[in-house]
Amino acid sequence: MTQKIILITGASSGIGEAMARRLAAEGHVVVAGARRLDRLEVLAKEVPGVEPVRVDVTDRADVEAFVQGARERHGRVDVLVNNAGVMPLSRLDALLVDEWDRMLDVNVRGLLHGIAAVLPVFTEQGGGHLVTTASIGAHEVVPTSAVYSATKHAAWAVTEGLRQESDPSIRVTTLSPGVVTSELADSITDPAAAEGMRTYRAAAIDPDAVARAVSFALAQPADVDVNEIIVRPARQR
Ligand code: NDP
Repeated sequence: MTQKIILITGASSGIGEAMARRLAAEGHVVVAGARRLDRLEVLAKEVPGVEPVRVDVTDRADVEAFVQGARERHGRVDVLVNNAGVMPLSRLDALLVDEWDRMLDVNVRGLLHGIAAVLPVFTEQGGGHLVTTASIGAHEVVPTSAVYSATKHAAWAVTEGLRQESDPSIRVTTLSPGVVTSELADSITDPAAAEGMRTYRAAAIDPDAVARAVSFALAQPADVDVNEIIVRPARQR
């Protein structure tokens, strides 16, 4: 196996943490980013090969430093997984406008910051792999998910656009998980949406299911690009 330098945003819990654990166990170097550095440090102590780095994806300079720092330490960046995301669901008429803004900032601008930081590195070094954690919300809209689904449709569109524009040396994968155990629903402040989620999330599967999917995409030979993967609980309709 070729050891890769893999950067993951949103690695302090849930899917990103599961990816960090699996990919580091496979022998890769994982640069694990998020705002909660304490959580990343605990993870790094537990899992050899994980490097904790504080990053706020809403801050373009922060994301640039996250990518450049890894490049300086390791000489290259093979993979960036843009995984950080928030999901404060609510009906539009609840008018939680600050929460709409936060979803746009993290789920869309954060992704764009990641692409802006890593694309020149990939071009210069002659290749790389960009992975976006979108969502089943990139494929469907349900009441309370309008803005979240909009951000995930956007994430899908940006990633697909990048795939179409990119040199074949740059691979692009969109992951769309269904309901997965994580801290994601903790960001919901709207009581009705939180109640709805309790039933919806009862079918949740382990985040390692998504980590196995990203591992599969990364392990393909350079001439194979796994463009899209949907992983959802067998029980989820
Ligand atoms: P978690 O809430 O467990 O993880 C979210 C991660 O994003 C955390 O590590 C958090 O770290 C990080 N994050 C949030 N805001 C920022 C920020 N401004 N800068 C950097 N990192 C940030 O949820 P999941 O693991 O479920 O979510 C991961 C991704 O998977 C998200 O994009 C989500 O939309 C997507 N997804 C999840 C599904 C699920 O059912 N769990 C289903 C479909 C998609 P910190 O707070 O430390 O910064």
